[in-house]
Amino acid sequence: MFKALVVDKDDEGKTSASVKDLELSDLPDADVTVAVEYSTVNYKDGLCIGPGGGLVRNYPHIPGIDFAGTIESSSDDRYKPGDKVVLTGWRVGEAHWGGYSQKARVKAGWLVPLPDGLTTRQVMAVGTAGLTAMLAVMALEDHGMTQGHGPVLVTGAAGGVGSVATAVLASLGYEVAAVTGRPETADYLTGLGASRIVPREELTEVTRKPLEGESWSGCVDAVAGAMLGRVLKQMKYGTSVAAVGLAGGAAIEGALITPFILRGVNLLGIDSVMQPYANRVRAWQRIAKDLPMDKLEAMVQPATLADLPKLGADILKGQVKGRVVVDVNA
Ligand code: NDP
Repeated sequence: MFKALVVDKDDEGKTSASVKDLELSDLPDADVTVAVEYSTVNYKDGLCIGPGGGLVRNYPHIPGIDFAGTIESSSDDRYKPGDKVVLTGWRVGEAHWGGYSQKARVKAGWLVPLPDGLTTRQVMAVGTAGLTAMLAVMALEDHGMTQGHGPVLVTGAAGGVGSVATAVLASLGYEVAAVTGRPETADYLTGLGASRIVPREELTEVTRKPLEGESWSGCVDAVAGAMLGRVLKQMKYGTSVAAVGLAGGAAIEGALITPFILRGVNLLGIDSVMQPYANRVRAWQRIAKDLPMDKLEAMVQPATLADLPKLGADILKGQVKGRVVVDVNA
């Protein structure tokens, strides 16, 4: 018997989440059974703990889009019992039962080995949000971003993606301007390495101007909506925005075409869900090398399975700071 956070739906379509006892035979069929140690709370988890938001295929459901743990049994040659592994993406926790569980059964191809130099807790402090932040930084560098050309903007900076992006960019030597709607997180963000705090309202007013002053040499954007419309008009010539999320809304507003035509700005979409194995391994290696572990620790808020219904609601309201690490065995 093991414990998991199970979300179910009643006849009226109302969902509820509670910690339940399950048997191994309840898990879906797949190659590898993992004794989960840690999972995390990402924005998508908030959606899946609640009404699903179109992400959950079938109820009852176990959310948790990422986890780290130890292989318990494997019918795939790539893994043997005792191996430490990490999972992010592949719609685990959405279409397939996820990491809010002391046991998980998944396809071997969805896993990567625990990166050298990181513990299962540290990889989950990074989690899907942090992996995505690293993929965004790598994409910006692949498109020519280098240090010494002015500030790099990070939006939604006090959230999960934004916190890791801020810490990684600062440790690489970039000047980071962190956008937040929570002024009380200023000390936290400067502690992660931000050299400037930009109040959210400075970037959310929609203007009719086709372009504004050239301010940013790169941007990791977790927010989209009105803010992305403004940011695009403020990018320096030939720079890139790595767009990872839409915490501020799905529509981009404003006179959109001008930054692309007149300033050669690139808009790079970042998706961590279907990343090939080699990219995942490369991103985790970069995290182990470029993310200072003391800064990672400063982002962490510990949690248990029982805390998840509240935390899921909080993250959808933009009220979670940094990264929540769920000890599923606590
Ligand atoms: P968080 O909730 O931790 O962070 C989002 C942050 O955005 C908030 O903390 C807040 O930061 C800011 N924010 C929230 N609402 C608004 C708003 N209405 N207007 C402006 N800013 C707002 O989520 P994550 O960092 O985990 O994820 C961020 C986004 O990235 C989500 O949309 C998520 O789905 C997406 N994502 C995408 C991935 C991919 O593979 N592409 C992977 C992981 C996440 P502050 O208080 O500092 O302003």
